[in-house]
Amino acid sequence: MSIGLNRRALLGAGGVTFAAALAAAGTRPTHAAAPMRGDLPPAWHRFKWGEFEATVISDGSLPLGKPADSFVGPGAAQIPEMLTANFLDPNAATLEQNILVLNTGRQLLLFDTGMGESMGADSKMFGPTTGRMLANLRAAGIQPEQIDMVVATHAHCDHVWGLVDANGQRVFPNAQVAINEADVKFWTDDANKRGPAFMGPFIEGAKKNLNAYRDRMVMVRNEQEVVPGVVAIFTPGHTVGHTVYAITSGGRTMVNTGDLAHHQVLLLRQPMMEFAFDSDPKQSAVTRSRMLDRLATDKHAVLSYHFPWPGLGHVKKEGEGYAWVPSAVNVTSVGPG
Ligand SMILES: [Zn+2]
Repeated sequence: MSIGLNRRALLGAGGVTFAAALAAAGTRPTHAAAPMRGDLPPAWHRFKWGEFEATVISDGSLPLGKPADSFVGPGAAQIPEMLTANFLDPNAATLEQNILVLNTGRQLLLFDTGMGESMGADSKMFGPTTGRMLANLRAAGIQPEQIDMVVATHAHCDHVWGLVDANGQRVFPNAQVAINEADVKFWTDDANKRGPAFMGPFIEGAKKNLNAYRDRMVMVRNEQEVVPGVVAIFTPGHTVGHTVYAITSGGRTMVNTGDLAHHQVLLLRQPMMEFAFDSDPKQSAVTRSRMLDRLATDKHAVLSYHFPWPGLGHVKKEGEGYAWVPSAVNVTSVGPG
């Protein structure tokens, strides 16, 4: 077999396929094809924000199932069309969980904890893909003992159930927990176990996780500076005490929006649409509309907990609603622009 013939065959000259060319040349692979790996890469992304260093880590994806089960109310009839037009599955909505670690130079802050494993089978109520926060935190070179403060947007499972481990022990032994007091009161009160079926486990999980930090809790108030450069903004509706955080350094502001909006298409194009897990869906929709307007007007960068990884971008006005403009993210990225 001449080199020339082989090369011509490999190039597929005359319409010969690669496999046919190998067979024709009498050549067989000497080993099995490489196995599909199927494992997930570590998921973290780091960038500078003024004087601060930010690291987004993933707690894994969170499948919601049928979109119509979670997104209801005004505009819901257009859900299949909106998803299809944006190249998304019209039959299944999947959210991400983007957790921010912020090093201010003086303190190391963790914004929400992901689903964790504290509640056994309930920790996997959205399937097996959640609960990757600790592994990804360590992969990013950060140890849980180094966290000075966990800053919570609200007390739902995918945000605070990673505070303790399955035995109820604190995962962040040196951390304070900053959270709105109304959320702590509501989600640790057994009297609120009524309504949708998820209320029972949500309250049990909040009790187990929040009560372990009772002696080191910082109650955040609207417009209060949590640490220098981080200001709480009260955004009630999704929960009674839902809070987002404006992070400013070097003259730039990025808002960690938590669960202000769960979907980058549905709830931005139709901000008055309602979300099934909202404590007060109508208040949530009004809060969302106001805050989206503020974000678009002020052109602040956004880190959204549930938007496509790593959740960094901007909100702009479009039509009657808003559009999500994701930031370019690569290994030399210095921030969400
Ligand atoms: Zn959430």
